[in-house]
Amino acid sequence: MADWLVLRALRGNAKQLDLSGKKLRRVPKAVGRLFELNRLQLKNNQLNDLPTELQALNNLTELNLGNNSFKELPEVLKYLRQLKKLHLFSNKLETLSPSVLECLANLVFLNLNNNKLTTLPEEIHSLTQLKYLTLNNNQLESIPSKLCRLQKLCELCLAYNTLQSLPHNIGYLTNLKKLVLSRNQIQVLPEELCMLRNLKVLDVAGNQLHIFPSKLLELKLEEFYCEQNPLLEKNLILSTQQNEVLTLQEITARYIMNERKDVSFNDTLKYYPEARKILGHASLCAVCKQSFLNTWLECVSFVDLKKKIGITSPVQVVPVRALLCSYKCFNEADHEFYGIAVP
Ligand SMILES: [Zn+2]
Repeated sequence: MADWLVLRALRGNAKQLDLSGKKLRRVPKAVGRLFELNRLQLKNNQLNDLPTELQALNNLTELNLGNNSFKELPEVLKYLRQLKKLHLFSNKLETLSPSVLECLANLVFLNLNNNKLTTLPEEIHSLTQLKYLTLNNNQLESIPSKLCRLQKLCELCLAYNTLQSLPHNIGYLTNLKKLVLSRNQIQVLPEELCMLRNLKVLDVAGNQLHIFPSKLLELKLEEFYCEQNPLLEKNLILSTQQNEVLTLQEITARYIMNERKDVSFNDTLKYYPEARKILGHASLCAVCKQSFLNTWLECVSFVDLKKKIGITSPVQVVPVRALLCSYKCFNEADHEFYGIAVP
């Protein structure tokens, strides 16, 4: 049956060939003579390798190898330089060969759902044209920070893995529109996540999150899923705190940072790159809006997503991190920041 389909395709100089669900253990070598082929469907078979003859398919842009028995990326992919779409879902991949990845520079779409991947090689950054990367239902404990160099990435799906954290340079994925991290073990989302100004969909349901980054509301989200996390709850206990004593470094830093608003002072600071670097780590107090450096109070505000950013979410009020410069600000009346009680 498969041979007959290949024969017919050869006669007609076919651009597409569908050999899905033919119980194939091997791909007929004659497929390598279909030089005009754009699209090759081989899903739902029993394949674990591809014949080297396929390297002649210079026009192939889409290859579907889903639901087979591949344990590694077939070597012949190295020669398919025109490939844009590659489906490898529901296989037995444990690793991705770096030398094959490096040759897939034109890939736009890569589906690796339902495999056994435990790590991703750093060479994933070779896929510079990649827009869609989906890795749901693998065994990934982390993702390499070099993945964040994929500047064109629009969609990144990592649901049902065992991720504990995200790399801090996640903020470099400036074109990301959809980020799915549901059903992992993430405890903290990095503040840099809020640099993803094109992000529309964020799914962090079913993780270990207690609180969200302070700039969460700066994201222009249209959909947000965060149910099934051990989020902080609003159980109020009244407390007033004694003012703390600041270190000399902190007092100096705060003095300098408030002076910085003065232009001539900023000019002087140019000659002290080390000092500038230190001051670059400063944050703003959520109450008085003044700068501070190392001493702060971690607080929480409870944000109604519907009221604040107009989205409906299964969890309507979420805890968002806020930093305050001092107990003096904390003790001020009329603000909505709460201290976090350690049980
Ligand atoms: Zn303050």
